[in-house]
Amino acid sequence: MSDFDAIVIGAGAAGLASAALLAKEGQRVLALDRSNYLGGRGMATDDEGYRLNLGAHLLEDPGSGITKIFEHLGMTLGHGPSNTDMPVWNHDSETWGSIRDRYAGAGDRDELKAVIQALLETPYEELDGLDNLPMRSWLSKHTSNQGVIDLFEFITVMECMTEDWWDHSASDNLFNRKMHYQEKRTAAYSFWPEGGWDNLFSELRDAVVNNGGVVELGRSVSRVLIEDGSIRGVCLPRSGASLQNEIFHDETVTAPVVISTLPVWNVLDVVSESHLPDWYVNQIKTLAQDRWRVSYAHLSIATEEPIPVLDRQEIATWLHAPISRTSGFMFEQTALDPSVAPEGKYLYVMGAMLHKFNRGRDKEFVRAKFTEFEKEVEIMWPGLEDNVFKRRTYVFEPSFGVIQKPGLVGKFRPHWKAPNVEGLYFASETFQSRGIGIDRAARAGLSCVEDILGRRLWPLEEGWRY
Ligand SMILES: Cc1cc2nc3c(=O)[nH]c(=O)nc-3n(C[C@H](O)[C@H](O)[C@H](O)COP(=O)(O)OP(=O)(O)OC[C@H]3O[C@@H](n4cnc5c(N)ncnc54)[C@H](O)[C@@H]3O)c2cc1C
Repeated sequence: MSDFDAIVIGAGAAGLASAALLAKEGQRVLALDRSNYLGGRGMATDDEGYRLNLGAHLLEDPGSGITKIFEHLGMTLGHGPSNTDMPVWNHDSETWGSIRDRYAGAGDRDELKAVIQALLETPYEELDGLDNLPMRSWLSKHTSNQGVIDLFEFITVMECMTEDWWDHSASDNLFNRKMHYQEKRTAAYSFWPEGGWDNLFSELRDAVVNNGGVVELGRSVSRVLIEDGSIRGVCLPRSGASLQNEIFHDETVTAPVVISTLPVWNVLDVVSESHLPDWYVNQIKTLAQDRWRVSYAHLSIATEEPIPVLDRQEIATWLHAPISRTSGFMFEQTALDPSVAPEGKYLYVMGAMLHKFNRGRDKEFVRAKFTEFEKEVEIMWPGLEDNVFKRRTYVFEPSFGVIQKPGLVGKFRPHWKAPNVEGLYFASETFQSRGIGIDRAARAGLSCVEDILGRRLWPLEEGWRY
């Protein structure tokens, strides 16, 4: 008999959701993560009294994703504060204005309603057919109203961090818009999880353990063991190795199913490509190219006075910042959760997109972009220069995600089930998925779990799967 029914590699959103769901269904599950913390790219850590997040900032789930997974596990994922407005920077006049101003006229609003109705009437299956098209090719069939087009496209800059209209994928973006309109009657919805991010990941870990599963941190999988086209388990370096370059003294843990949650950039480190079809490996390597990583210069800056444009809970975006000409985002994290900064301090997080330059490994180039970004945020938000805390973080390794351009989404991505290896799954939103981020990672886990169980955990109508 195998040691476990399933082994999950990774204890981020995808890994913990998969492990918790399988454990709840009575499966003997082992989840392993090479790092010593939960959450993967969603982890947070303390720095001089500030709580800084690596990746988790806003959770984009109107209810049918990770919220539903929590509900199924007998827990509640409380939706904390949401962003209230979206100021957009007008790079010609160098002024801010609400996105709402762009479709404020009565005629504009009717036009927006008609486009929303058309989207609600378009089945998800039809949107699946738009993987190779820009969103504007769908929008232009339904409207020529620039305000409505701006609404759809600026949200895409925020969510997917694509900049030019031809780069906003129709399928992924319209999936998101339809879901948000259907479930929350709004164009975009994201929130700060009540209790914070650590709490979210700890609760998922507890759901694994309380249902008899095991979560081990600080355990790196060196290899997924595949024999005769079937999963046998995973190999782990012997614990207690005295030399850091010790090799091939692995311990084996057996299971007939392995769910890898590694993103496309490092999945082939543990799954030997010799076990996978060349076309499938090629799909993984295509997506794993540096040029498709969403990367940005990220600043965390704190002040002693709030500096909103419209409202403290806003999330601002722009297409061309004054100096670097990069697009980006900015919001006040303390407006969503004051506990992330010492009392009386206001913490802002912001990013300037760098992927279009495709010079992610050129550190001098990246340094120069940080310098430009630091100057221009003070132009866009006078007051930021009087900061009391600043941290630069570079989003590249790990990346935010694989960029969602036409031809790089949906059916153009490797499927989450290995085509030829029995029991091997890839639960990651960098594989076939819709959208990007923590909710989508958890949904990717759900898709794999349901395939393993051979049944839906709840009806498909209560949300989509991929
Ligand atoms: C800067 C940044 C900002 C972001 N902002 C947001 C946001 O605001 N909202 C949002 O929803 N999403 C955001 N994201 C994206 C989000 O963090 C990811 O989509 C999500 O965390 C992915 O979860 P995952 O479980 O699929 O993968 P990961 O979190 O990457 O988990 C994979 C896990 O596998 C582990 N691992 C790797 N190799 C091995 C091995 N050999 N053995 C064992 N374990 C291994 C890793 O340690 C990791 O914990 C952001 C990401 C970044 C980087």
